[in-house]
Amino acid sequence: MSYVIAIDGPAGVGKGTIAKRVADDLGLITIDTGATYRCLTVAVIDNGIKINEVDKIIKLSKEINIDMQLEEKEARIFLNGKDVTTRIREDDINNFVSPVSAIKEVRAEMVNLQRKLAQGKNVIMEGRDIGTVVFPDATVKIFLDASLEERAMRRYNQNQETGIDKDLTYEEVYESIKTRDYNDRNKPIGALKQAEDAILVDTTGKTIEENIKRVEEVIKSKVNI
Ligand code: C5P
Repeated sequence: MSYVIAIDGPAGVGKGTIAKRVADDLGLITIDTGATYRCLTVAVIDNGIKINEVDKIIKLSKEINIDMQLEEKEARIFLNGKDVTTRIREDDINNFVSPVSAIKEVRAEMVNLQRKLAQGKNVIMEGRDIGTVVFPDATVKIFLDASLEERAMRRYNQNQETGIDKDLTYEEVYESIKTRDYNDRNKPIGALKQAEDAILVDTTGKTIEENIKRVEEVIKSKVNI
């Protein structure tokens, strides 16, 4: 029987980095669900659709093809066959993705896709609503959290390292994450929320290595890996 390890948490908490490292250590595959919403957002922008054109966004979400190469070391994501792995991380997407992902019909499409991607595999799936909506019966549920200031600093440092959005100041990153937090926590459906049976891992003031160790401890206490 395959199993799902759900990792949820707010923007900039390090879900992606932690999930990837843990997956490498434990021989699992990661699925980044935020990437599916980001991919759709690229399509929305490319098609010149405005955020209030909800019907057009819903239609587009049913027409586009989103594919992930999960077996690669660095998962790659494709929109209608085109590699958009870097594009989905750019700042215009950050600003647009939260309202796009708040549309009920869009969430239904993306949740379907996310479930299909995980089918028959042992995966770590990370996002906002994995433990609450996508896989409410997940074998392990972890909720990662950290202060807003620390998340903004981590994201700022990550931008400097990767070169993506390198020109954004710390204050700009802070404001962007703050807005996204508000939107993500206040969505009528699929809102960011800790599942009742999720284990909270507060990463504030901890090193990445400490966080990885803690997450691995939690997983190993629930599954035989
Ligand atoms: O995880 P990441 O920050 O890349 O996600 C981008 C956006 O996609 C989030 O801010 C959130 O609005 C949306 N999202 C979501 N549900 C998920 C994952 C991401 O609504 N499971």
